[in-house]
Formats: sequence, structure tokens, C-alpha cells
Amino acid sequence: MSRRGNTFIDLEDILGFGLECPDCHCAVTIPYSVIYPPPERGGDIRNVPPRCPNCQREWHTTESPTAIKQAIENFAQSLTSIQRSTSQVKLAFSLEIAEEESGAESEEQPGKKSVAA
Ligand SMILES: [Zn+2]
Repeated sequence: MSRRGNTFIDLEDILGFGLECPDCHCAVTIPYSVIYPPPERGGDIRNVPPRCPNCQREWHTTESPTAIKQAIENFAQSLTSIQRSTSQVKLAFSLEIAEEESGAESEEQPGKKSVAA
């Protein structure tokens, strides 16, 4: 993991994309390696779940059931394109992310409680 000052992540540190149900907070992670490369070169994102595997809430609009899947595929291709073009000129590219709220434990995640030793 190459974070600098907890505010930047390098593209190679992105392992997958997470979706969390707004109702029950059940989470699904789609690995980056499944989304990219495109299907003809080994990647195989078959679908984004159409509904929550836990509470069955619909996760897509009826007008465009594959819109989220296509948007994730486009995002993954854009990240790869940025990585390829910046690395050709040895330019370091990273994403700046928001700092956690002050006072929060650095490795603590919502919903997960750490047990005191
Ligand atoms: Zn749910």
C-alpha cells in the first residue's frame, strides 16, 4: 500500500469496486481483475447484481438495467488508460481521498468494532 499522508492512493492500489445496499448495508465487491482487461483479453464482469443479495432491494433502474455495470467498466478502462499514458512519460498519477474524521481509529471501518486486548 502506498499512501502518502493518508490522502493519496496510487491506481495499482485499487483492488476492486464496492457496492453497498442503502437499506441493509450488505456489501458486494467486484475485483478490478474481473472488470479489466476487457472480456476478449480475459476480464469477465458478467453483471452487477440486479438486487441486494440480502434484502432483495432493486439495485438498478428499470429503464437501464446494465447502466451501472457499463459505468463501472468505463471507469476501469479510464483508470487503465490514465495509468498507461502517464507511465509512458514516468508521471506519477494518484487519487486524492478524503481524510477520515479526526479522532477515528485509522484502521477502523463503520460497522466493525475493534476488540480491546
Ligand atoms: Zn440490502
